[in-house]
Amino acid sequence: MTERVAQVALPLPLFEPYTYSIPDSIADRVVPGARVVVPVRRRELVGIVVGKGEGGRGEGDDGVTPSAAVTPSVARGPTFAIRDILAAPDAEPALTPPMLRTAEWMAGYYGAPIGIALKAMLPAPMWGESRVILTVKDGRSVGRLGGLAEQVLEWVEGRGGTAPLDTAARHFRKPLWEVADRLARVGAAELLVEPAEADPSTLIERRLEVSGDPLTLVERDAKFARRAKQRRLYETLEQLGGSVPVKHLRDSLGMSDAVIRALTDSGLARVVKTERMRDPFAGEPGTPPPAKLTPEQAEVLESVEGLAPGSGALLFGVTGSGKTLVYLRAVERAVASGRGAIVLVPEIGLTPQMVSRVRGMFGNNVAVLHSGLSDGERADAWRLLRRGERRVAVGARSAVFAPVRDLGLIVVDEEHEQSYKNGEAPRYHAREVARVRAKLEGARFVFGSATPSLETYSLFGAGPTDLPSSRPTALFRLPHRIDDRPMPPVEIVDLRTARRVATGTSVPWSGALDTALNTVLARGEQAILLLNRRGFAAFIQCPECGLVRECPDCSIALTLHRVPPGLRCHYCGKHFPVPAQCSNCGHPVQRAHGIGTQQLEELVAARFPKARLARMDLDTTSARWSHHRILERIEKGQVDILLGTQMIAKGMDFPNVTLVGVVDADTALHLPDFRAGERTYQLLAQVAGRAGRGPKGGRVLVQTRSPEHPALKFAASHDTEGFLAHEAEERKNPPYPPETSLLNVVVSAEQESRTTEEALAVADWLSKLIETQGLPLVLLGPAPCPLTRIKARWRWHVLVKGPVEEIGRVVRYAAPRLEGRGARVVLDRDPVSLL
Ligand SMILES: [Zn+2]
Ligand SMILES: [Zn+2]
Repeated sequence: MTERVAQVALPLPLFEPYTYSIPDSIADRVVPGARVVVPVRRRELVGIVVGKGEGGRGEGDDGVTPSAAVTPSVARGPTFAIRDILAAPDAEPALTPPMLRTAEWMAGYYGAPIGIALKAMLPAPMWGESRVILTVKDGRSVGRLGGLAEQVLEWVEGRGGTAPLDTAARHFRKPLWEVADRLARVGAAELLVEPAEADPSTLIERRLEVSGDPLTLVERDAKFARRAKQRRLYETLEQLGGSVPVKHLRDSLGMSDAVIRALTDSGLARVVKTERMRDPFAGEPGTPPPAKLTPEQAEVLESVEGLAPGSGALLFGVTGSGKTLVYLRAVERAVASGRGAIVLVPEIGLTPQMVSRVRGMFGNNVAVLHSGLSDGERADAWRLLRRGERRVAVGARSAVFAPVRDLGLIVVDEEHEQSYKNGEAPRYHAREVARVRAKLEGARFVFGSATPSLETYSLFGAGPTDLPSSRPTALFRLPHRIDDRPMPPVEIVDLRTARRVATGTSVPWSGALDTALNTVLARGEQAILLLNRRGFAAFIQCPECGLVRECPDCSIALTLHRVPPGLRCHYCGKHFPVPAQCSNCGHPVQRAHGIGTQQLEELVAARFPKARLARMDLDTTSARWSHHRILERIEKGQVDILLGTQMIAKGMDFPNVTLVGVVDADTALHLPDFRAGERTYQLLAQVAGRAGRGPKGGRVLVQTRSPEHPALKFAASHDTEGFLAHEAEERKNPPYPPETSLLNVVVSAEQESRTTEEALAVADWLSKLIETQGLPLVLLGPAPCPLTRIKARWRWHVLVKGPVEEIGRVVRYAAPRLEGRGARVVLDRDPVSLL
């Protein structure tokens, strides 16, 4: 037996890789980044080699060290020797060294187990459990095998000398991994891991075909006497045209492997392997982008070219300034120079126009990665990119891991979008991963936005900031719209004083908005009405002066609670009594609450009975591609008024939309989140960018009770940099990112009391850690999260603020140690939402 060992990370929440020995036969394939199949207790799992050589952890024990996550119900067995790697299925490693290092960075920075970081990088089917086939060796010399081993051997021999291990295990009603291991070691049997090509994720598809002439009824009765299942399978095959994917038979039609195998053994059918590509966009024509660049665009393109490898820039261009064309040309140059590129978009289903343009330019050299892909399609696209048969990847968040060969450029479009942050472990931000990966690969990166996040803006545009690694340098601007079309006027409608139209609903409806909508409809143009997400956190607002009560320490809106009655800060947890009147003007205050799109739809339908309405929010767009269909209807002019939530604001370009109405800006402005102002600004700027794209121009009406709010005032004057400068000052006291680094520790459990207790314990543990280590960190809370209950779990959180280095130390120390007793504890570093 060889002494050589490898450390293998498994897609499980374990902070240490396991150690396995490397059989000589596959030694050349077992290199860092390679997929391997390894035994884990009584299962076989796919893992990634993260290191080789001695000094691995877990030596001397079974290499399958203990994890409740692996097999919670099975008691620990005796200690084993280090086990062998069973197989290395790929001809070349799945992950290149820079990608492996990106995973390691991600695990360290966000406090995620390395296996979970790697799991995020590879398509799900590449992690599937492999099947182990047991084959009895010819002329086996049976030593003194134990009773069960002997029985298993005989049973397999009785089936022709070969059988899947899991089938055998089902027959004997117990796991047989150890038995199989012993049989292999004494040379009585051979263990084969079914090759990767048998995996449904590959380009090769296994189909079951009828072989020979069709059976007559008499033959059928004879052949299938007492074999009803085989007959059903055979006749299903016939009905489906004589050839059916094995996966379909198994997964959708419920045919068992045993029956399929029996039918092939009898010679009535055979398994064939066929090449199959599944690119759902393949047939769709793309839209070629305009050929000519404006002088401004050409200048920015040259600047992008001039970036040093490993560095990048913020492309700050107003809506309609033609950022997309700059991206496309930059990608084109990367491809022309023999390198590849990744284009990230926030949510691919909402950006069909971007996809269409990329395809129009690069045709079948593009792999489009989107949430509608099946696992198999995703794996196909992954392989094409890995082999260099596609040079450009377009997709949402996880496309940052696309295995593009010789990566030369990463574009992150709409870099300010929250959807770039992963909502589960590893809680990475694709924009930050893009920076790290670009540096490791020697690629350039471009972050584009009309409304950059303050983090990115201060990183590129302003002086030194307290942000991690690879400081970039460049800020490129596209300050004008194509053809110098003016930005649409943004008009603030002050709901405290404006004339209101009585609608019989709680929807605020001003005369100004009513008139504007009538005008648009009379001209045969289109309008968009925007509502923020339904307000879930009630706040107190003065109807007279618009004042909203905030926490004096945290500067976020206080939330109204009934039990116990009062106002509560969802960051620091402080309570305040409900004021009877406004502290500013003395007017009695009011509880403010959000309205839903459904209410709005009823109102609009009643007031504008002839208008054709469409609604686009989470309720109506959950079906795959249904938003795509809604957008198509708008484009064809089949919709007069589109109602919806934030997602309306993203990526659409309809010249006939001449009015955008923001029905109630206040629910967004007063969310209990320190980024509420920034998000509202972004929303207004983006939605304003939707209006007036065509020669008819357009206007934006914003209804609010807080017309003095900076987010609204700067939005009305289209002054993004003015807003960012103002916001940067606001973030200094109390400090919030980018002024300081942030860690959100979220505790959740099904019982409220458990959640509270555990949140207190976590806060206590953290404050002791901070104290004993003398760390310059501030701890806030514990406090209930603004979204206090999600999916039947109560949620509390603790915020830690301070310099990035020390936050990093806390994350690295706490991640493997902070475990809730009966509660879930999540570390969210650099959170984008504190709701
Ligand atoms: Zn007031
Ligand atoms: Zn507070």
